Amino acid sequence: MNAQTQKHRVVIVGAGFGGLRAARALAKADVQVTLIDRNNYHLFQPLLYQVATAGISADEIAYPVRSIFRRQSNFSFRLAAVNEIDPLRRRVLTTAGEVYYDTLILAAGGQTNYFGLETVAHNSFSLKTLDEAAAIRNHLLRQFELADQASDPRVRSAHLSFVIVGGGPTGVEMAGAISELVQMVLANDYPHIAPAEVQVILMEGTDHLLPAMPQPLSQAAADALTRKGVQVRFGAQVSDYDGAVLTLKTGEILPAYTMVWAAGIRAVPLVEQLGAALGSLGRVKVEPSLQVPGHPEIYVIGDAAYLEDAQGKPLPMIAPVAMQQADLAAANIRRQLAGQPGLSAFVYRDPGVLATIGRSQAVARLGRLQLRGFLAWLVWLAVHLMQLIGFRNRLLVLINWAWDYLFYNRAVRLIMNDRSAAPVTPAPEGLFGKARVKAPGSFAP
Ligand SMILES: Cc1cc2nc3c(=O)[nH]c(=O)nc-3n(C[C@H](O)[C@H](O)[C@H](O)COP(=O)(O)OP(=O)(O)OC[C@H]3O[C@@H](n4cnc5c(N)ncnc54)[C@H](O)[C@@H]3O)c2cc1C
Repeated sequence: MNAQTQKHRVVIVGAGFGGLRAARALAKADVQVTLIDRNNYHLFQPLLYQVATAGISADEIAYPVRSIFRRQSNFSFRLAAVNEIDPLRRRVLTTAGEVYYDTLILAAGGQTNYFGLETVAHNSFSLKTLDEAAAIRNHLLRQFELADQASDPRVRSAHLSFVIVGGGPTGVEMAGAISELVQMVLANDYPHIAPAEVQVILMEGTDHLLPAMPQPLSQAAADALTRKGVQVRFGAQVSDYDGAVLTLKTGEILPAYTMVWAAGIRAVPLVEQLGAALGSLGRVKVEPSLQVPGHPEIYVIGDAAYLEDAQGKPLPMIAPVAMQQADLAAANIRRQLAGQPGLSAFVYRDPGVLATIGRSQAVARLGRLQLRGFLAWLVWLAVHLMQLIGFRNRLLVLINWAWDYLFYNRAVRLIMNDRSAAPVTPAPEGLFGKARVKAPGSFAP
């Protein structure tokens, strides 16, 4: 209990899709809600790839947490990173001190999973935060400048080879967007670079893209990417990448200064401190009520939680799961406080899946309905616009999209705040086969 207000203290870690929704769902409950996040904003991750490919700017997909909750009287926010969870004393230790809870909702999400490939972790780009998206954008734009000035054809070709690893929605969306950025925008800015010199390669370890889609739609996505000039390679598993040359498990090598790793995600390691059993991808195995076994006062939701559906399949790490779990956790907390017996079990209501492959192209599974092409793209557009928080953001994104669509342009093409500070002309010698370690957020050739 909070000594001043005598109210039950609900502490939520993470202002992502799950945490934000849980805080809102508790607006009318007789509790004091404290939301903790290491960032002061909520990030709309599904549009990160558009920031990375110069379509929209970072502030259009992020929204300050305090603004979102400015009218919620039982809410407070703490900008801090949670370093430790102490279930025995019911507190979390943060960079801004300790915070005590009566109920904890852990909604800290996931992080990029490199499956133990250390060179890949050091030298590739991942797409999980705004900083990472901005680093990719700067790097992509810089590659064209460097290619334009390179005299060695091997170096020029490596600057113009863009490899995306992972054929899930993020990889597919990145590949489509990079291809369009190259063909529709940069080709005009760089008359000395022929579009045929540029390679955009999507590598997928299995034999199909978009595993959550029915086979005809994953095939449609592969066909649409191929039409856009993306080389889609199946059964391609990366084993090493030194920042200049990537190696496949087959031993094949490919020079490329750009590799975006979109091949996996896992729960944040913070959840391991609960001491609970973990399921696949480091997620906490929760009860159907979303509580941690043996700790009825701790709920884990979203990407950090592991739960299976009625068919025994793990629930996917996607936003609708996180938001629906947030609603259930909030409802169960209210039941606990009211002393009502029996908590509800989580049942996922699948709203469908969507993925865009670029301008006018998308695939969508909505219940039994399967859509592809322009109609699916309109659905994708409407769903993403509706989910973006804040009228200003929606308007800005809509304007940028309309501008791109009508004028084949990309709004955000400045290389800014580029910490790589790369030399304008790279030394050709030793570029290939030499291990290089990337500075945080940069990728200097
Ligand atoms: C590039 C990309 C594209 C995606 N596209 C889609 C899509 O199209 N559709 C879809 O449904 N899903 C998509 N997803 C997945 C979706 O974003 C996640 O499933 C969803 O965000 C999970 O919600 P969450 O609340 O569990 O975690 P998150 O939304 O990731 O939120 C976690 C929050 O916890 C905070 N946090 C983490 N650790 C700490 C700590 N130690 N201290 C303080 N704060 C901390 C983080 O800053 C973050 O704000 C995408 C993900 C990515 C990365």
